[in-house]
Amino acid sequence: MTRIALARRPQGAPVAEDFAFDHMDLPDPAPGEVLVEVSHLSLDPYMRGRMNDVKSYAPSVGIGETMTGEGVGRVVATNDPRFSVGDLVVGVTGWATHACLSGSALRKLDDSLPPSTALGVLGMPGFTAWASLNAYGRPKAGQTLVVAAATGPVGSMVGQLAKAAGMRTVAIAGGAEKCRIATETFGFDAAIDHRAFDTASALHTAIAEAAPDGIDIYFENVAGMVLEAVIPLLNTFARIPVIGTIAWYNELEDSADRLPMLWRSVLVKRLSINGFIVYDHWDKFDTFLAEVGPKVAAGEIAYLEDVVQGIDKMPAAFAALLEGGNTGKLVVEL
Ligand code: NDP
Repeated sequence: MTRIALARRPQGAPVAEDFAFDHMDLPDPAPGEVLVEVSHLSLDPYMRGRMNDVKSYAPSVGIGETMTGEGVGRVVATNDPRFSVGDLVVGVTGWATHACLSGSALRKLDDSLPPSTALGVLGMPGFTAWASLNAYGRPKAGQTLVVAAATGPVGSMVGQLAKAAGMRTVAIAGGAEKCRIATETFGFDAAIDHRAFDTASALHTAIAEAAPDGIDIYFENVAGMVLEAVIPLLNTFARIPVIGTIAWYNELEDSADRLPMLWRSVLVKRLSINGFIVYDHWDKFDTFLAEVGPKVAAGEIAYLEDVVQGIDKMPAAFAALLEGGNTGKLVVEL
């Protein structure tokens, strides 16, 4: 069998020397294991992250270890009674021609669709689109969605699901041919070639024309210049599922720009960040008073007031407030 191992950690974009090809004898499956001859291997953007030695939601690939990834193949030997020779399966085979895996780590496929669909449209990327759009995008008919990497397995699924939910869908894709595919094959209402623009403001103008009512879902697949271009177009109560930041995957960790670090934290730590304006919640004011008022009256909730005497002191007291000059709620007593 042949496998591809990580030879060293890439500096920026991966190059051939970062990988090593190994040839070895086929392993015999231990009890509970299955030997798979791989027919299709998946290549996905997340693999770039696994090549770095940083703490993340999944462990990095060690130097000398097989590069991680999913594959589809046929069972050629089995020591798990749930599988027979010839079964078509999908699992984390790694970058290799064969993999010996626990039967519990494999999913059987039927032969009704091309095997490779288990790696894309009906595999991890398709499911990523479906799950994140439903959980965090919350599509609404009549609203507008923008997604980049729009002809890839995630973006194309996002576009089609959003369109089916009645949204206007705007694709960002690299090159005229991908833009044509976005509208003709995946049904996007408009497609913009981000590679035709040198600056975020020029890209912004093009997206603004394609999304005249603003953006309600920006499905974040790429970050970088696309993110910069869409920010001013976001509508109030817009949603941003942060799924991928591929524009920054090859950047070095010590970049002076802190935005990639923030966006990566949002993604990896699944942070919830919500804008809040108190007036949106005013209908709950009576509930607040009923719950907290008695506790204030009983001394169970403390409060502090900083009382300034006289209306003439107001300008100076206000200036001091902005500098930390007050201690507690600043009130002017007339
Ligand atoms: P794709 O197959 O679409 O491949 C990536 C595409 O990204 C490229 O083809 C390119 O398309 C686009 N791209 C690359 N660099 C840039 C850039 N600087 N600006 C704009 N676009 C760029 O990928 P997937 O559909 O598999 O994945 C899409 C995103 O979703 C990735 O960021 C990936 O990491 C993420 N993802 C996250 C998961 C999660 O669990 N959080 C799971 C699966 C995927 P083009 O030429 O059209 O610009």
